[in-house]
Amino acid sequence: MSKTQPVLYVLSGAGLSAESGVPTFRSAGGIWDQHVLDRVCNAMTWKNHRSEVFQFYGDRRKEMGGVEPNDAHRRLAVWQQRWGTHRVKLLTQNVDDLLERAGAPEVIHLHGSLDKLQCTACGTFFPVAIEAYTEHTRCPKCDSLKGVKPAVVFFYENAPMYTHVAKMRHNIEDHDAMLVVGSSMQVVPLEQFMSPRRRESILNWQVNPEPVDVDAFAVNLATGAVQGLGELEEKVQQLFGSN
Ligand code: NAD
Ligand code: ZN
Repeated sequence: MSKTQPVLYVLSGAGLSAESGVPTFRSAGGIWDQHVLDRVCNAMTWKNHRSEVFQFYGDRRKEMGGVEPNDAHRRLAVWQQRWGTHRVKLLTQNVDDLLERAGAPEVIHLHGSLDKLQCTACGTFFPVAIEAYTEHTRCPKCDSLKGVKPAVVFFYENAPMYTHVAKMRHNIEDHDAMLVVGSSMQVVPLEQFMSPRRRESILNWQVNPEPVDVDAFAVNLATGAVQGLGELEEKVQQLFGSN
């Protein structure tokens, strides 16, 4: 069934927040190095070093409190406010809340968020104040202590929000646009969200100072997110007929 109105799907990665001063995954000068990641981002072993896990994500959360959304977050938020959540779908791999703070009404966090904890014993997710973001916080529902972890998707852990990625891949129509901004496409690879047929579309756009999989995109803007999204403003207005 064809939708009458075009949809803009935006898949963002760490590069979207880079100009806010949040380090990206691989270029972070050690914060996210492989050794650290194996210890703090591993669903099989995190229980063996709970205090290190909470320390690590607690630090990331504190960092987040000290940064502001940039104009790329703001532009995406304005697009979603102007054209609606049914026409502008924001999917992000980021665990920060900068899109929300920029005013975006609906953000799908594929890898969870830094402002919640989750209980692996009973499946509850719960928001906590920064003071309670510690290894000593118990699940409000089942009182588990050892089962509680940051609500960030670890390696070898289920990522339930990936159903949205599968839906996007399946539901996208010829008149819809897909924008990938600030992702190295290593964690969520191109094949996962773009079918071979979709690669032919002229409405595939990428913004990244070091673009990847360039053949799959009709437009590759080799710039930062702030400038790149500014350059796309006209195309987005055309997509929605400027109304
Ligand atoms: P990545 O770190 O693997 O890739 C970042 C990409 O951003 C790179 O391709 C880089 O060239 C590009 N980039 C750098 N500066 C940019 C800019 N100014 N504008 C646009 N692009 C820029 O990130 P990923 O693909 O999102 O995957 C990494 C994983 O790390 C994700 O799962 C994410 O959850 C996590 N992560 C999140 C944050 C955050 O929440 N802010 C930060 C670091 C890592
Ligand atoms: Zn519980």
